[in-house]
Amino acid sequence: MRATLMYGAGDVRVEQVPDPVIERPTDALVRITASCVCGSDLWPYASMKPEGGPTLMGHEFIGVVEDAGPEVTTLARGDLVVAPFAVSDGTCVFCREGLHTSCADPQAGFWTNASGQAEAIRVPLADGTLVKLPVEADSALVPSLLTLADVFGTGHHAALTGGVSPRTRVTVIGDGAVGLLAVLAARRLGAERIILMGRHKARTDLGREFGATDVVSARGEEGIEAVRELTGGHGTHVVVEAVGTMPAYRQALGVVRPGGVISRVGIPQYEDAPIGFGSLFLRNIRLAGGPAPVRAYIEELMPDILNGSIEPGKVFDTTIGLDAVPVAYQDMAARKSLKVLVKP
Ligand SMILES: [Zn+2]
Repeated sequence: MRATLMYGAGDVRVEQVPDPVIERPTDALVRITASCVCGSDLWPYASMKPEGGPTLMGHEFIGVVEDAGPEVTTLARGDLVVAPFAVSDGTCVFCREGLHTSCADPQAGFWTNASGQAEAIRVPLADGTLVKLPVEADSALVPSLLTLADVFGTGHHAALTGGVSPRTRVTVIGDGAVGLLAVLAARRLGAERIILMGRHKARTDLGREFGATDVVSARGEEGIEAVRELTGGHGTHVVVEAVGTMPAYRQALGVVRPGGVISRVGIPQYEDAPIGFGSLFLRNIRLAGGPAPVRAYIEELMPDILNGSIEPGKVFDTTIGLDAVPVAYQDMAARKSLKVLVKP
């Protein structure tokens, strides 16, 4: 089959690789019908050393079950399924608490060297990992349902762990797909005001459509000042940090209200950050967020997509075939595309 391989920074190729096969009785084989490139794929695209490659890429997909091992009980050949960006058994102590990203099963974890941007993939722990979709593979809802694999679930996780409620005001830092869907999620949870910090007009326009009440395009001190002006000098109760860099964290510190929460869903590109007396402690500020257990949220978020009340799939501004995936990486890294849908 054809699959996407990353050989190193800036070097993504679509090549022939061996077809995946059932290796364990709990595996399923899925023929991929819709996939995408993630903002988090851009981190290795920027920095991966050639010694680390080549590695198969892709961790967000929808597809049709082609075959399943003898211990798979909830799925049958022909089922259309969505896969979260982490494999989980659905039965361990952490999964039962809704923290599927910490699943204790030895086969669980984030997809690594997995062929999500390919024609087919082997899915471990298929009963726990995959969720059946009640539509056909060519449904117009597929782009929105594909966001359940990662970006919408991640935006929801940011809003939820930040404590968004009808009484809260929210700042979202970052106008990538996750930031924009954190806006949609905050709106869905009833936030009374949502300030989106982002610099790309086409994206912040979509953010307004998703529910942002204000847009601040300035960054750093100037951006902090602008948010404070909009909030009577106090900042907001919740700040979603959907970038992952130190400047974004510092911006979050600057716009969070005393007693508030900074909820981080951008993968932190740092280990050391201010958390001491002057930064967090004095103002009773809490840190939340982490890799979203999106598997826990799929059943809750899907009905609003199926009934048409939300359309998170609007974050896909480009659709391509599998052979064009290297271009998708280039265009997303150059911010020419917001998020690229791949039809293998
Ligand atoms: Zn588990």
